[in-house]
Amino acid sequence: LYGKQRINSAGLNLSDLEVLSGLQQYLEPFKIQTWHAAPLVNGRVYAGIEQQIINPAYSQQIVGHVTDSDTKAIADAISIAADATQHWRLSAVNKRVTYLLKAAELLEENRLELVALCVREAGKTIKDALDEVREAVDFCRYYAQSAQELFAQPLTLPGPTGEQNLLYQYGRGVFVCISPWNFPIAIFIGQVTAALASGNTVIAKPAKQTPLIAMRCIQLLHQAGIPKDVLHFLPGDGVTVGRYLLSDQRISGVAFTGSLTTARVINQQLAQLPGIIPLIAETGGQNVMIADSSAHSEQLIMDAVQSAFNSAGQRCSALRVLYIPHANADNIISRIIGVMQQLVVADPQDFTTDIGPVISMDAARQLREHVETLREHASILFQMQLDKSLNKGCFFPPTLIELSSLEQLTKENFGPVLHVIRYHSNELEQLITDINSSGYGLTMGIHSRIHSTINTLVKNSKVGNIYINRNMISAVVGVQPFGGTGLSGTGPKAGGPNYLQRFTNEQTLTTNT
Ligand code: NAD
Repeated sequence: LYGKQRINSAGLNLSDLEVLSGLQQYLEPFKIQTWHAAPLVNGRVYAGIEQQIINPAYSQQIVGHVTDSDTKAIADAISIAADATQHWRLSAVNKRVTYLLKAAELLEENRLELVALCVREAGKTIKDALDEVREAVDFCRYYAQSAQELFAQPLTLPGPTGEQNLLYQYGRGVFVCISPWNFPIAIFIGQVTAALASGNTVIAKPAKQTPLIAMRCIQLLHQAGIPKDVLHFLPGDGVTVGRYLLSDQRISGVAFTGSLTTARVINQQLAQLPGIIPLIAETGGQNVMIADSSAHSEQLIMDAVQSAFNSAGQRCSALRVLYIPHANADNIISRIIGVMQQLVVADPQDFTTDIGPVISMDAARQLREHVETLREHASILFQMQLDKSLNKGCFFPPTLIELSSLEQLTKENFGPVLHVIRYHSNELEQLITDINSSGYGLTMGIHSRIHSTINTLVKNSKVGNIYINRNMISAVVGVQPFGGTGLSGTGPKAGGPNYLQRFTNEQTLTTNT
């Protein structure tokens, strides 16, 4: 069914003007469409009070409506998902693989609608939204292939003559998948397809800010053949849905991506259950890039700006703190400001936009407070002036701040704010100690052409993903499996060879032949 030749999805070449103008034309009708999301349990849409979903770029523009999940929908989802575990756990792996491959096809076929919706609901640029669909497609195909390799046959283990030993892996049962708004297609689809491919029934809880796109994804998964009793959808506020959903002893595992604060709440809640429920948690980071004086400055500046400001800095992998040597600091800083001045902050529906809005007015307020707090103890090196027309959306100006130490950052600041710290070359080891003591361990960038420096940094750092002499964002499925350590996550790495096993139970079968 599935050979070894899996390749990642190709995407579109936006530097080809014909492709670009075609895309512009095809996206046009979706600018006025509205969408709807509601609890979807066993294929049934639950009615209820509807709330508006607003475009973060235009506070007056409604993108659609959502009905949040009530306790009846949650209870039904758990009961039906629990009842379906036996048939899905024992279903042929080839069947699950076929569904995931079909889902990949359907995501590609519906790419334009998904892109348009992602731009309007999550405020992503068109390029970022295209990348999301591509990553979601890659997850479907990667996990289909992994499932076939890992689960189609049991592993035969050695034993004495006259004894056969087999190791099987089965789905754990009902897996709850809880996802963030910043990758509302890719992470949502990635979690759900991993749990399904491993033989679990799934209850998917999307981020409160992005239920519309998640609902479209669920519809496409059902259309691909995933049985309706196996995959359920519960939109709503995290605390409200979580309180009820995660206190039911019939759940067998949770895959969570989001903030550290929420991961801790979920962990505590699961600890109240009689069983020991595995939690896969992928959380935030305090990601640094360290440049030394041998760094290629042109490349360093482009990579730092991209890593910090792409997606309005709303990536868990985004660069938050750039370390630069004293000797080069003034030069590097003034050139970073030069590049920042060229960034286009605007409506993400425009193809020329580099940076769209942040997700909400509240997110913009938190960033403003962060900058104001630092104003007293740090130096605001540059902040872009935004056009007044952007006041009607949740925009935040790209900002550059100089700190004297990493300790000045007490939490993850999720937006287009880059901090720089100057260091002396003899402080390199102390610097990595400071970084490790933040407790986070998600991504790190290194810009150096000195092998011994690179080796020291790599050996002593405790992060999940290290990028040398390039940007530190946009991990590729099957190429840079993604996920952190410490406060940044429990592992395993999404899009990597050891991911699906964490969604399964193992069983050995010993037969006296
Ligand atoms: P969040 O923690 O606010 O919400 C994440 C999800 O958890 C949402 O679906 C939310 O509704 C739900 N939730 C909230 N409280 C809950 C509760 N008590 N019980 C159950 N569910 C609950 O995070 P966010 O703002 O949506 O996302 C941004 C965060 O995600 C950032 O910290 C970012 O670094 C992190 N992130 C990490 C990765 C990674 O792979 N490590 C990837 C993307 C985002």
